Amino acid sequence: MIYLDYCATTPCAKEVIKAMQPYFRDQFGNPSSSHVFGRIAKSAIEKARSQVAMLLNCGPAEVVFTSGATESNNLLFLGLLLDQHEKRKKIVVSSIEHKSVLEPARFLATRGFELVLLPVSSGGIVDLDAARRLINNDTALVSVHAANNEIGTIQPIKDLAEIAHSVGALFHTDATQALGKIPFDVQDVDCDLASFSAHKCYGPKGIGALYVRGGIKRWKWEFPFHGGGQENGLRPGTHNVPAIVGFGEACNLVTENLSDNKDNLFALTTVWRKEIMKAFPAARVHGCDRLTLPGVICVTIPSLMADMMTIGSLEHCISHGSACNSGAISTSHVLRELGLNDQEAESTIRISINSSVPDNAISSLIKNIKKFVIKDGD
Ligand code: PMP
Repeated sequence: MIYLDYCATTPCAKEVIKAMQPYFRDQFGNPSSSHVFGRIAKSAIEKARSQVAMLLNCGPAEVVFTSGATESNNLLFLGLLLDQHEKRKKIVVSSIEHKSVLEPARFLATRGFELVLLPVSSGGIVDLDAARRLINNDTALVSVHAANNEIGTIQPIKDLAEIAHSVGALFHTDATQALGKIPFDVQDVDCDLASFSAHKCYGPKGIGALYVRGGIKRWKWEFPFHGGGQENGLRPGTHNVPAIVGFGEACNLVTENLSDNKDNLFALTTVWRKEIMKAFPAARVHGCDRLTLPGVICVTIPSLMADMMTIGSLEHCISHGSACNSGAISTSHVLRELGLNDQEAESTIRISINSSVPDNAISSLIKNIKKFVIKDGD
């Protein structure tokens, strides 16, 4: 079985597991305890916070540990927005955001906010002219992901941050898919908030972060959770020390290796795209070439039974729509926004690779795809 679904999740790097191991048993202290065991755990957390901050190019106090991007996205929509900007009632998000942004935004729309969805081009890139038109003095928050999880398109978040700030709105980006695949620097983007999940970049599941410019005390929050006051009260509850340590180590590995890995993976992805197009000339690869994440190939292959392949293939793990959408019967909202009809969406797969996929993976994948393409007369 060849795993080709690295956008859904990645395995923990061996360095990550090694870094985490002591904190399950030998150093099991609660970081809120003031004795030595607690202080050891606390210093492990603060080291990890610095490792995350180093990768993001921010201060450690600006990093809030959460259970992952879903929680980070919800925390900022529900905690930050509900309580401020009385006069600004507009929330602007792209129409192809992950559901963990779209759903809290829709929830706020039931609580008096106006929700505006930014359209995207047929290549899946947010339309900046529309953004300039739709983002105005009524806008409280603009939230656009750094890169899309289904088609891999890299969004013009620097421009969007500038547009948001020019009218006094906040800018948030869900950088879950970008982290570890392309450079992501909060100073360069000039975002006010950003969300991450460790398991997308060789860290453990169930841990992530919310970046908050200037630290959470700079903003007015209505904390959704109440408890022991951890993470300055924004995310109370005993810290998951091994996971936090693993996330820190995963970020450290990205800091050390990203530039080499990114170029290798980009070259490999180009080869895979060409091979797929050669084998299936009527196929349509989604995205915008250099503006698509290395490692991500979302492709519509006419007459491919994508769901049968996803479930039935014993040779390759790929995804049909995004993993979070799998199991849902409706067509992915992202593919719909690109203009695909139900039949085209049903013939669309997402292949997401890393640079250590076996050399024969692309030829075996093409052979396998052919088994799931309905031929005339079938
Ligand atoms: N945002 C994006 C862009 C994602 O790809 C994902 C995971 N598919 C999430 C948010 C949610 O991450 P998690 O499930 O780790 O909370």
